[in-house]
Amino acid sequence: MARQKKIYLDESEMPKQWYNLAPDLITPLNPPLGPGGISVTPEMLAPVFPMNLIEQEVSQERWIDIPEEVRQILFQWRPSPLIRAYELEAALGTPAKIYYKNEGVSPAGSHKPNTAIPQAWYNKQFGIKKLVTETGAGQWGSALSYACAQIGGIECKVYMVRVSFDQKPFRKILMQTWGGKCVSSPSMETQAGRDVLAEYPDTPGSLGIAISEAVEEAVSDPTGKTRYALGSVLNHVMLHQTIIGQEAKKQLAKVGIKKPDIVIGCCGGGSNFAGISFPFMYDKVNGADIQIIGAEPFSCPTLTKAPFIYDHGDVAKMTPLLAMNSLGHNFIPAPIHAGGLRYHGMAPLVSAALRDGLMDAVAIHQSECFEAGLLFLRTEGIIPAPETTHAIAATIREALKAKEEGKEKVILFNFSGHGLMDLVGYDKYMTGQLHDYEYPEHEIEANLAKLVGYPMPK
Ligand SMILES: *Cc1c(COP(=O)(O)O)cnc(C)c1O
Repeated sequence: MARQKKIYLDESEMPKQWYNLAPDLITPLNPPLGPGGISVTPEMLAPVFPMNLIEQEVSQERWIDIPEEVRQILFQWRPSPLIRAYELEAALGTPAKIYYKNEGVSPAGSHKPNTAIPQAWYNKQFGIKKLVTETGAGQWGSALSYACAQIGGIECKVYMVRVSFDQKPFRKILMQTWGGKCVSSPSMETQAGRDVLAEYPDTPGSLGIAISEAVEEAVSDPTGKTRYALGSVLNHVMLHQTIIGQEAKKQLAKVGIKKPDIVIGCCGGGSNFAGISFPFMYDKVNGADIQIIGAEPFSCPTLTKAPFIYDHGDVAKMTPLLAMNSLGHNFIPAPIHAGGLRYHGMAPLVSAALRDGLMDAVAIHQSECFEAGLLFLRTEGIIPAPETTHAIAATIREALKAKEEGKEKVILFNFSGHGLMDLVGYDKYMTGQLHDYEYPEHEIEANLAKLVGYPMPK
């Protein structure tokens, strides 16, 4: 067969349903728990999220229809191309066939609009006029600002962690060009922000504080027309991302590949990994032999070193307890350049898949990741986001293993986003200013010791 670099799908071939892994888990999902250890009911979440998204959050339906209006907006960049990494394969001298799904072609440059669009749409359907969220490095804030602009009639407000707000002006400008309002967190606009500023006027801010501010603003709007939005971790976010893996499956079939041998994604909160891998976990549950690997930073080893426990999603303990792999909500991640992977927990669905043996995990140092990123951009041409380089590094490890074994394996990985707004990280790597961090075991233990007495999941 003639060499084919890119495999496209027609718009008519874009999936019409999302795939929900929950009903296919071997052990059922543990429910989120509220104060006193009681199960959180949909009504309890109603001030924070619209009921139509809460229904998806707790759904046990395997397939959920993608609304036609949502599909129309996803067509702005979807179906995304599947690309054969011929040049990378040649550089590695591997017999493996490497394919990647390029989610960097979305308007915001990552997979995040796959959930931002439906989230904004469902909120508007429910009569919501304003969405509030937090953002660390700015990927999620820009995706949601873009989505609100496309849906129309819905304001977007983003609390951006102060240190990023000051150091990364381009993401903030991106949000503003799409009409989003971006404020530095902690701010004077919420009680949570004012309290922190009174005590620590020079704080660099944190994701935990920004979440507290966003949730406070959402639940305290007296008109009841404001809600909060989250870009990862939750079940409905994983659901929306499964369009990625479903497309990849159709694209591989077009070049005669029935199934990949290995599927790889990087893991922060777990959403792009879930997106590429859950449709293949469905095959795995039904007997297919597929190895599925989540790649995380060595400095934030949620999958490889953290236990499966009940913990809060944020530092201020505003969120219910979620059953997930967690390093403890007090975990303060090392300042590595893959900002989107620095989260203390892991999506409950991904954590459950790990518990059920449906996937493996690897932790990789950032220097190996940047090295992999450089090899990738010098061979394949596209500059990956620092988060994405973790998936590339894991792919290179597997491709070299296939070379040693002399096996022609098919490896599929998710290219979660481009790195054109992360060039400072590359500059630091190339000028020798980046260091590897290993989170001290005793500090993880000290964080987890604070959770003694919390309920334990199944
Ligand atoms: C946010 C982000 C991630 C990490 O988030 P997940 O929910 O784990 O996918 C990874 N890659 C890119 C490009 C991101 O923007």
